[in-house]
Amino acid sequence: MQETKHHHDTIDSGSVAGYASGAFLRLACRFAGVVALLLLICCSPVRTVRFIPATGENSGKPPRPDRSCSDWRNYIPDTAHLEYLPVRYLRVNFHILNNSDSSHNFRPGEARAYYGKLLDIANARLDSNMRNWRSPEGTPVLPRRYRYVLSPQPGDDGFYYHFDDSLYYFISQGKNQNNYNRTVIEKYAIGKDSIINIFAMVHPDDSIRSSTYRANAQGIALGTCLKMAGIFEKKEPPQNFSGLLNHEVGHILGLSHAWVEDGCPDTDDHPNKCWDWSPDPPCNALATNNMMDYNTHQMAVTPCQIGRIQAGFANEKNAVRKCLVPTWCSRNPQKDMFIRDSVAWEGARDLEGNITILAGGALRLSCRVSMPAGSRITVQPGGRLWLDGVRIHNACGLEWQGIFMEEQKGKQGSVNVLKPSVLEDCPPGKPATLRKSRSGR
Ligand SMILES: [Zn+2]
Repeated sequence: MQETKHHHDTIDSGSVAGYASGAFLRLACRFAGVVALLLLICCSPVRTVRFIPATGENSGKPPRPDRSCSDWRNYIPDTAHLEYLPVRYLRVNFHILNNSDSSHNFRPGEARAYYGKLLDIANARLDSNMRNWRSPEGTPVLPRRYRYVLSPQPGDDGFYYHFDDSLYYFISQGKNQNNYNRTVIEKYAIGKDSIINIFAMVHPDDSIRSSTYRANAQGIALGTCLKMAGIFEKKEPPQNFSGLLNHEVGHILGLSHAWVEDGCPDTDDHPNKCWDWSPDPPCNALATNNMMDYNTHQMAVTPCQIGRIQAGFANEKNAVRKCLVPTWCSRNPQKDMFIRDSVAWEGARDLEGNITILAGGALRLSCRVSMPAGSRITVQPGGRLWLDGVRIHNACGLEWQGIFMEEQKGKQGSVNVLKPSVLEDCPPGKPATLRKSRSGR
């Protein structure tokens, strides 16, 4: 049985008074009752009992994922408690495609400086947000809770240069169209199962010369990779293309264009014909600043768009999840969490610290919760934990400690099973603990 006792002997007021001076003795006698009470309060023992789900409650099979697991509404950041949705870090690298005489893209030093800056600016934009012009009045502006991290391999810096006359160019229209072609990815991608590979390409000279070809900044998302073109040719500062990068990665993260039906009630459908706002019709009324529309800003994302991205990160079957830095494997004590209010997590969570439910706090868990290695969930006296068809595990296959209820002066933290739930990756407890722990319900 895993039971720890923090037992302090209770000292009676008489023995305290025996060591005291005369003045203190008189005072202590007057307040003996109070002193005894205080000693009792501060020194009454805390018993900790491990919670083991009853047979049937823990069938060993994961509960069937609830529909709530994939619902974007359950992944919207709570601005009062951003820690409930830890920031996700997406690994990226860059491939600079050039022809063999090195005349059609940035040289290595320039490329590193330019795209390094572009990545910094793209991250700064991800760190902020703005009101989506085409959302209903009152739609909140929320933090996105994800950013990029350059992800080198041992011995390199995450920038790769390819001089390849047959693969350096990108053609988005006409008979030689190759923007959907994946040959360049198959040939040069590095770690594409775990890194977003960004291919910086160029429009070919003859396309640029064509009067019908639009050699503007473009991109295309292909699986966990993306191709971009038109950047080197434009000779503009990197901030002009950070919106394009965020847009293309938005596709990789599962977002559709916002101007069409995209499954988000807070992005409206519109013709997508206004590159920027202007005082004259139609762009006085039809301009947009959404990251997933075509416009000069590409800055705003709505709560639904954020929820959809976060739901994808949390989905263990999603290829994009494998491109995240797994910050949830081991415990970071700075990420320990204290639940004081009534909180329900209906979407999945990948947590990085302990959970402690304090007196008066209530936490209801559905879907999936990953607890970091060595961590525990503690329900203090007066705190309540509801297991509502949840699978609690460590998403890296490491061990966490389990759920513990504290009891003090006959008051115990309670764990209630609303729907069959599963605890995985925590060492099994003894059946004897089971009945005892259930007394706390
Ligand atoms: Zn697009």
